Amino acid sequence: MSDGQHRVARAARLLVWGLCLRCPRCGARSLFRTWFTMYESCFVCQLRFEREQGYFLGAMYINYGVTVVLALIGSFVLEWWTTVSLAQQLLLWVGFGGLFPLLFFRYSRALWLAVDHIFDPVEDEGSGDSDGKRW
Ligand SMILES: [Zn+2]
Repeated sequence: MSDGQHRVARAARLLVWGLCLRCPRCGARSLFRTWFTMYESCFVCQLRFEREQGYFLGAMYINYGVTVVLALIGSFVLEWWTTVSLAQQLLLWVGFGGLFPLLFFRYSRALWLAVDHIFDPVEDEGSGDSDGKRW
């Protein structure tokens, strides 16, 4: 397997682990204590999940982006293939926009962790980033 194929396979594995709410370093199901509360670190590999203050801002972007894309696609689908009125659509998509981000919260954080570890893996704890530098 070439280096490029290895990287793609690793990225795909990390994204699948993210969708399964698994630790991006070891694959353990160690991310969440409750629906909205994460563990501070993985109980298997001790990876600290929140690297720095504000780290999960990227997860908010993922959550927002997925919510907007699904609402847009859904509204176009309803517009083209059903006779749902505009008022009904507004009610539906406002409700969706309020509820879906809560349901997708865990996945957005896990996916953010996976994406971050695709581009900047943490191999050993204590140094912060893989290259030992902080931004
Ligand atoms: Zn782990």
